[in-house]
Amino acid sequence: MHLLVIEDDERLGRVLKRLLEEDRHVVDVAVDGETGLDLAEADGIDAVILDIGLPDMSGIEVARRLRKRGSQTAILMLTARDTVTDRVTGLDAGADDYLVKPFAFEELSARLRALGRRAEPGPRRGEPRLEAGPIALDESARRVTVRGRTVDLSPREFSLLECFLRHPGQTLTRDQLLDQAWPYSAVVTPNAVDAYVHYLRTKLGDAGSRVETVRGVGYRLSDA
Ligand code: CA
Repeated sequence: MHLLVIEDDERLGRVLKRLLEEDRHVVDVAVDGETGLDLAEADGIDAVILDIGLPDMSGIEVARRLRKRGSQTAILMLTARDTVTDRVTGLDAGADDYLVKPFAFEELSARLRALGRRAEPGPRRGEPRLEAGPIALDESARRVTVRGRTVDLSPREFSLLECFLRHPGQTLTRDQLLDQAWPYSAVVTPNAVDAYVHYLRTKLGDAGSRVETVRGVGYRLSDA
């Protein structure tokens, strides 16, 4: 893969570059957010390894700007903090996965392989357009509408809705939703599902009531 490491700790940046190159990746390094953003938008970057603590702007801001500009590049966030709020904020900003520092290089390597597999176009995706009542999700355009009006969802909210739309009328447990909407983030807690269901309902407006709580079990998308 062609990787971009955005990390202001120059020593760590050098070590990562060397190890990743030994892993047969092509590696660019940026030491601040602005340079990182410029490089990330260059053609052919498959994944960005993004430190949260950068001198000019936070890695969360870098992720947010990349997604806002329409970049689909995989983002793996490196964070020194280990609180649910930071992780959820990072993922909500558009990161696909994260690692808490200090981490074992083997783990970084494994997560990059997972992101690489995800990025490959494959036959595992089905119908590109999913619908339930007034809600429509166009997978190829990454667009959600309610009665034709576009709803702006974060990547995680999009995955969650996609999960519901693939299983209309079926009760999904928090663990099932975690597995499907957070496939590469083993450390997300079931509470994150509740938080994201809440965001999703709010953004869907009156159609949000279709996401029903199944007490003690999980959630279900009403297909009635
Ligand atoms: Ca840093």
